[in-house]
Amino acid sequence: MEHSKEDLKDLYDGNLRWEKVKEIMSQPKDNDRFDKYIEILQERVPWSEKILLPLNEHLHVVQKDGERIVKCDCGQEFGDYRRNWKLSALIYARDDRQKLEEIYPGVKCPDPDLGEIREYYCPGCGSMLKVESVPIGYPVIFEFLPDIDSFYRDWLGRPLPDEKEYKDLSQEVIKEWATKV
Ligand SMILES: [Zn+2]
Repeated sequence: MEHSKEDLKDLYDGNLRWEKVKEIMSQPKDNDRFDKYIEILQERVPWSEKILLPLNEHLHVVQKDGERIVKCDCGQEFGDYRRNWKLSALIYARDDRQKLEEIYPGVKCPDPDLGEIREYYCPGCGSMLKVESVPIGYPVIFEFLPDIDSFYRDWLGRPLPDEKEYKDLSQEVIKEWATKV
């Protein structure tokens, strides 16, 4: 069964009545659900590059001049989607007791000798993009490298032009930093 874009909008925003949510969830997905979802997202951003895949609440992989880059809904760009976008974000590390206590006051405070909390912010709009809690010195986590070509080719049945090698390029960013030191 087809669902209206308005219903899907409400579903994604969490504004739909539970009966309606249940009804949508229990039915086979309509074929163009993904397209409708992208259409809704595209209407909400102020820029015109085509969204290929949403990554999280603020970030999307978009098509731009033959490249695929990560872009925030504010317009801030984070480079090739195969490079961990976190390496281009503002990072605030809560790595001492005082900074951790702001979030976990008192006895709940984690031991700063064991781990830290890293907050990632968009340099363009200041939105918090991600929080990760890791052991001290743990590498920045690359959460999701989507295989966009397989998704469009094999799942949607319409391959994208200029396929890209499916490869984590984050090391390139680190290497660039190393040459600047
Ligand atoms: Zn932003």
